[in-house]
Amino acid sequence: MKKLISYAVAIIMLIATLSPAAFSAENSCDCGQSPIVYISGLGSASLIRDAGSENEQQLWKIDTEYAIKEFATLAPSVAALMATGNYDAFGDDLIAVIKTVFGDLALDGDGVSSDRVTYELREYTSSEHGLDRDYYFAYDFRISPFETAALLKTAVETVKELTGHKKVSFKASSMGGVIAMAYLSAYGTEDIDKIIFINCPILGTEVAGELFTKQLEINKDALIRYGEQALPALDNDPLAAILYAVIEALDISGIWDTLLLTADFFIDKLGEKVLNEAVIPIFTSMPGLWSFVSDLYFEQAKDAVINPETQAGMLSKINDYHYNVQNKAAEILNSARADGVCIYIIAGYDMQRTPLVPSYLNDSDGTVDTKYASVGAVVAPIRETFSDDYTQAVDFDGINYISPDNHIDASTCALPDSTWFIKNMLHCNNHDGHRELYRMMFESDTQLTVFSDPCYLQFLQNDKDNQTFYEVVPNEDYTELDRLLLAPSLLHFVAFISCLLKVFRF
Ligand SMILES: [Zn+2]
Repeated sequence: MKKLISYAVAIIMLIATLSPAAFSAENSCDCGQSPIVYISGLGSASLIRDAGSENEQQLWKIDTEYAIKEFATLAPSVAALMATGNYDAFGDDLIAVIKTVFGDLALDGDGVSSDRVTYELREYTSSEHGLDRDYYFAYDFRISPFETAALLKTAVETVKELTGHKKVSFKASSMGGVIAMAYLSAYGTEDIDKIIFINCPILGTEVAGELFTKQLEINKDALIRYGEQALPALDNDPLAAILYAVIEALDISGIWDTLLLTADFFIDKLGEKVLNEAVIPIFTSMPGLWSFVSDLYFEQAKDAVINPETQAGMLSKINDYHYNVQNKAAEILNSARADGVCIYIIAGYDMQRTPLVPSYLNDSDGTVDTKYASVGAVVAPIRETFSDDYTQAVDFDGINYISPDNHIDASTCALPDSTWFIKNMLHCNNHDGHRELYRMMFESDTQLTVFSDPCYLQFLQNDKDNQTFYEVVPNEDYTELDRLLLAPSLLHFVAFISCLLKVFRF
């Protein structure tokens, strides 16, 4: 019997030495740094219609020249509208153009793309890797995050093979975080060393749910703040002062009010029709976009826009992500950390979000709500603070998780000690200061926390000009903002236009 066991052990050892694992160990890299796969945001891959044919057309990111050309065909319809006041006829023409420009992006009832719309999957061939050389992972944002995660799994295997590392790290930006979460859910943590989530809608973003439940609202103050962000030239710029003076002299506030009225009028007359007949059918056919809908609106949005009979396949895909990933985000992240994966979460705040939806007061990085990117922080409405008698929601033996500006309580986050909040960080706008922080996170062999380095406290004030951060200070003075709120109306006008442009470019 003893002999038999020794024999079996010898055979197993022989097989083990010949197996691929042993082979890759011989080719292993000792650089000490897991290769980084950068999972980029929405639109990382260009979606092409009829690739290779003479009618080849890039549909996403939207080809502005093509879109303008198509929308310009509406000129006669606008003239007719002005002459006849027939909004229905104009609406039909507008819907036809929207369908021409975006229609082929729609997925079928199973959440599958038309064969005519394709993109180029990147192939990795180089073994070069390091903190300044990552593997860029681009994908079709429309399909289910689980389908993208399967492609990511293949990419991870390729990177491991090329570099001789047993694990990779993820740097996930915006929607990339959704893909990383689907990956953790489907494939676990075996291949993963570290993950940095940068401004990711891990619990969604309220804009998506509100648009999918057809809630539109234009708020004037929010528009102004949004415009202020869209115009960096207005910050500390002599031009801004001149602009203000000119505007004040002209006192054109009437123009703004007229514009706002006009916008409301158009939304009233056309909004419902255009949403129902063009925008909703196209964009709600994409399981990828459903991953952005928060739990608050998920069921309501499904009831509003999904046909359970013709879209059964799609429905099952979006339920799968929502209930197995988004709703279990805290569980997935905690179990990944328990498995030894270092996890870092970065959320921006104090930026005005697109002011076309009811949640315009939710604090955000301009796109993703801070409470969702941070996976569960309690966040006061934008530019407001907690009441003086507010106490931290979860007690961690007296450790403070409330921001110095009394605006964020991080004690309720999935990972309170490895979630950072950067004030005035606009969605995925990184500078050298961010890159230094990410480098430190990737370089550390152990999980760093918000208590590890006094230069990188939990709450950081973004200093874009000097490409660095400093400590968030209490009682932020918003006089500058107040001035902007009272400032005259060219700013409103510019805000409105920039907002339209933003919506147009999604
Ligand atoms: Zn290496």
